[in-house]
Amino acid sequence: MSKKIGVFGGTFSPFHNGHLNSLLTVAKVMGLDQIRIIPARQSPNRPQIEGPGPEERLLMARIGVAGHEPLLVVDDREIKREGISYTIDTIQDLRGELRDAQLFLIIGADQFEKFDHWRSYSEILEAAELVVTTRPGHEWPREVQTYPPGVASLVDSFDGRVAKLITGTDIHFVELKDVEVSGSELRRRLRAGESIGELVPAAVAEEIRIKGWYSDLHKKVENYLELSLDMGRILNEKNAINVVGLDLGEKHYPAQFVVVGSGANTRQTSALAEHLMTQIHKIYGFWPQNVEGQYEGRWVVVDYGALIVHIFYDFARHEYKVEDLWSAAPRLSIPDPHAAFRTSGTYPRPRLS
Ligand code: ATP
Repeated sequence: MSKKIGVFGGTFSPFHNGHLNSLLTVAKVMGLDQIRIIPARQSPNRPQIEGPGPEERLLMARIGVAGHEPLLVVDDREIKREGISYTIDTIQDLRGELRDAQLFLIIGADQFEKFDHWRSYSEILEAAELVVTTRPGHEWPREVQTYPPGVASLVDSFDGRVAKLITGTDIHFVELKDVEVSGSELRRRLRAGESIGELVPAAVAEEIRIKGWYSDLHKKVENYLELSLDMGRILNEKNAINVVGLDLGEKHYPAQFVVVGSGANTRQTSALAEHLMTQIHKIYGFWPQNVEGQYEGRWVVVDYGALIVHIFYDFARHEYKVEDLWSAAPRLSIPDPHAAFRTSGTYPRPRLS
C-alpha cells in the first residue's frame, strides 16, 4: 500500500503548540505514516520582520518536534532553496521524490480562506490531497458557498467533512481541540517581556530565551527622533502625500513617535511601505518588528517599537481620521527634498520602483 505523507509548511516563528496540536491530531485522524514539517525560507506575501532567520527557525522546528520522530520529520528543502518559497515547487519536488506516496498538504482555516491566491493552487490540488483544520478565530467552511471562490469552482461534491474535487483529489476537514496561539501573539509577548507559558514546547522556549530572539527593537535603535525624520524624508522623496511626523511624548508608551503619509492608490501605498522598509534596512540594518496591511495597501502599519509608521491609501486616511487622535502632539520638521515643487504646484510624478 502506498504511504500517506503529510506536508506542513509555515514560517514557524516561533514553532508553537498550535502547530504540534494540529500535526498530532491530523496524523491520527487521517492515518498518516509521516508528516514533513517544512519551514519556508521566505513565505510569499509576508514582509520581512526582525527575529530569527531561516536557519534559526529551522532549528526551532527541529527542537519542537523532538520526541515525536519518526512520525514528525523536519525537512529543510525550502530553507535551502533561494528566493520565495512557493508550495507548488515543494509539492512537485516531493512528488518526484516519493513517487508512490499519497501527499496530504495540511493547512489551518486561516490559510484556506485565501488558498485561491496561492501560486498554482489548482495544480497543488492535482498533486496532493488538502487537509484543512479548524483554527480559533477563523471560519471553518460548512458549505461550498463559503469556500474561496477559486476552490469552490473545483468542487464536485461535499458532504460536510470531505469535498471531492474535479482534479481527482479531496479536501478533508479536520476539527481540532482549540489551541489559541499564533506566531504574532507570541512575538508580541516576547517583545513585551510577557510569559509564553504553555504555548510553545518547553525546549523551544528555552532556546528562545538563551538566544535572546524576538527582543524589543528599542535595544537596536539609538535615536528614535533621527529615525522618524529619516522615515519622513524617505516617504517625501518617493512623493508620498502629506507626510506628517508627530512626537506623542511619553504617555503613549511604548510608541513615542508617529509618521503618517499616504499613497494615491493601494498599489502606491504598498510600494511606499515596501520601499521604506528596504531603505531603513539598508541604512540601519534592521527590519520592523511587525507589519500589518502591507498587501492590501489601504492602511499599512509598520511597527518599529517606539515609532509607528502609518501609510494610507489617501482615501482611507480621510475615512479613518486617525490623526485626529493626536491633534495636540507637536509636529516634527520632516525634511522634504521636493518642497519647492509642492509650493509651486508642479509635483514630480510618483516613482514606484
Ligand atoms: P503568524 O501569526 O506569524 O502568522 P502562525 O503560527 O499563524 O503565525 P505559521 O507558523 O506560518 O503561522 O503557521 C503554519 C501553519 O500552522 C498554518 O497552516 C497555520 O494555519 C497553522 N496554525 C498556526 N497556528 C495554529 C493554531 N493555533 N491552530 C491550528 N493551526 C495553526
